[in-house]
Amino acid sequence: MNRRKFLGTASKAALALGLADFPDYQLVPRVSIERIALFPLRYPMTGYFKFFTGPHGSAGRAAVIVKITADNGTVGWGQALPIAKWSYETLETAYLVLRNYYAPVLLGRNPTDIAGAHAAMDSAIAPGFSVGMPITRAGIDMALHDLAGKLWGHSLAQFWGKQPGGPLPLSWTVNVKELNEVEPLVAEGKKRGYRYFNIKVAPDPVFDVAVARVVKGLAGETFLWADANGGYDPDTALRAAPALADAGVDVLEAPLRPNRISGYQALKKQGALPILMDEGVVSPIELEEFIKLGMCDGVAMKPARCGGLESNRRQIELCEKHGLIWLGSGLTDPDISLAASLGLYSAYGLKKPAALNGPQFLTADVLKKPLRIENGNAYIPDGPGLGVEVDEGKVRELMRQSGGDRLLEV
Ligand SMILES: [Mg+2]
Repeated sequence: MNRRKFLGTASKAALALGLADFPDYQLVPRVSIERIALFPLRYPMTGYFKFFTGPHGSAGRAAVIVKITADNGTVGWGQALPIAKWSYETLETAYLVLRNYYAPVLLGRNPTDIAGAHAAMDSAIAPGFSVGMPITRAGIDMALHDLAGKLWGHSLAQFWGKQPGGPLPLSWTVNVKELNEVEPLVAEGKKRGYRYFNIKVAPDPVFDVAVARVVKGLAGETFLWADANGGYDPDTALRAAPALADAGVDVLEAPLRPNRISGYQALKKQGALPILMDEGVVSPIELEEFIKLGMCDGVAMKPARCGGLESNRRQIELCEKHGLIWLGSGLTDPDISLAASLGLYSAYGLKKPAALNGPQFLTADVLKKPLRIENGNAYIPDGPGLGVEVDEGKVRELMRQSGGDRLLEV
């Protein structure tokens, strides 16, 4: 390709990424995606978390690690993080969609054209209500951000013309089946330096209020965040919200399933607590519709939920434009996705503790140098791309420990 044509292609990709202020991209030679390798595995876990129970979940946190290699040898890493008990995507579907549908349309493409990669994935699997297979494709989106950042020598913050910021305080997840489990669990969090707590609530508001009161009593001045994961019905949620507010809860996330539009509107109108959405917010398009419909006061962000960093940063910008709250959350993200989430939230100046509970529940990582988590604070990796280096030997060992080829047997 002649220089003029290359610069035109690079400029288009840079504009798609909002990189017009970063002329360095012009110095990077044209590269294309040569190989995409997939590593399905499960991270070992500790503690009780309701989404990781049962015959599949109890085996650990499922992930498909994605390694994208460009034809100049540069590598980008990402990971798709399905949780069968949280959404409809599973380890098996994520792996097969990546292998049979997404990888074939991405090979040969310019890895820095992330918007184009999403369009190519849309052409392979049509959207349903929103973007198709969002958890699965987040693995590709993260790997492309990592690869493009490594090609350009830019961190995520630099990608978006921002400062990296941080460290970010983390929130400790309190998910209990009995009230007497709360005290030792909060004590464990405090011992590890955590000052902020998020509680899992629903379906029983009486139990939920009791949990909130105990946590508030033990934690003192804190930011207390309740997440119902869509587990109330509309009438129960309208009773629960003021009672949780009385018990010291600061925000109520996902009180209802996202298709309960009038229920969300009634809760927002009630005004007992700020109402956040999580499940069901996949692309900026439906988020804008939900905002126009008056369904929420804010959103719990998660790049792993909504197709990756590009979609999620646009959702943050939408919240800021409309004066809504945005909080940083996650899908019990391990190492790679945790680095991506921290990079995003810190670059956009997250004000509240992040409910990124990978460090609480996961007991292994695949990085050459683990992320720095100390006293309940997460430090922001600031190297190129996602800022972390993946140890492929550790990836392969974790895959072997997870069951290797037998992992995907049906
Ligand atoms: Mg949630």
